[in-house]
Amino acid sequence: MLAAVKTENSKEILLEDKPIPELEEDELLIKVQACGICGSDLHAFVHSRGYEFVDKPIILGHEIAGEVVGSGEGLQDSFIGKGVIVESMHYCGRCENCNSGRFSICETNKVIGLHFNGGMSEYVKTKRKYVKEIPDGLPATLASLSEPMAVAVHAVEKAGEIKENQLILVQGPGIIGFFIGLVCLAKGARVILSGLEKDYSTRLSKAEEFGMIPHRTNVDVLPEKVDLLFECSGSPAAVTEGFKQLKKGGKAVFVALYEQTVELFLTDLVRNEWPIITSYGCNPSDYETALEVLKRNQHELQEIISYYPLGQINEAFKDSLSQSVLKAVLEI
Ligand SMILES: [Zn+2]
Ligand SMILES: [Zn+2]
Repeated sequence: MLAAVKTENSKEILLEDKPIPELEEDELLIKVQACGICGSDLHAFVHSRGYEFVDKPIILGHEIAGEVVGSGEGLQDSFIGKGVIVESMHYCGRCENCNSGRFSICETNKVIGLHFNGGMSEYVKTKRKYVKEIPDGLPATLASLSEPMAVAVHAVEKAGEIKENQLILVQGPGIIGFFIGLVCLAKGARVILSGLEKDYSTRLSKAEEFGMIPHRTNVDVLPEKVDLLFECSGSPAAVTEGFKQLKKGGKAVFVALYEQTVELFLTDLVRNEWPIITSYGCNPSDYETALEVLKRNQHELQEIISYYPLGQINEAFKDSLSQSVLKAVLEI
């Protein structure tokens, strides 16, 4: 099979011929149809701080959708021929956190395509318990977005109840920020999506078409303080700025991963009773909600994706790194 391999020293991703993975008895073989390129793939690609654990050479890719073409001997129900997505987080199902439904912080959590080979390849294998069927009528290219959408769903759930007309600031117009904005809009909130001046003509104006209020940091002034803040930018400066926009008693949810240490003056947080909520990854049940949201919005969402064949994976990474595309998906 053709597979995209990232090695320790290569500047580019290499296309190599690899054997099709052999199945254990509880595993399925999936013919990959679409695999999204995520921010964490970019971090692994440029060897960012916090991604030292990625053991190269590796086939990246954890936003996977495809068709089941093989199944291990121990599996009774044949999934052959079904369209599925693969959950990114491979939890143990036995630890304290898994037992209380907090699978995304499983004690031994591993992410497909970061800890072991993933979906930027013609075939991938995974355990039966990590696949979910794609609802009828949703194309694989969009279903591959169920992972970032599930991350957004998870973050919004961690924020607690979203009330109608509540004012929400989402910082960072990447795909997670964009999706969090969409989920909050669907709950009746007013959503401000903030980004840099250079994002205005691309990402922020796109968000405006979806009903969000675009906001350029350092240029625009917010009309009023917000009830809820989602920090998805990963910039330490944005963290400080975000708190300045938050009402007394408001909440801040941190979804981004930070390459640098962030300094906070905790007295401000105490005096305003600002709880810090963090949200990491997603749980299996978040995928179900995510697939529904994707199905409902599929026509509008088609236009935010830029498609690349597997052979153009290096262009896809380059365009994602330069942020000239909002979401790159490999069609395989
Ligand atoms: Zn991802
Ligand atoms: Zn666990």
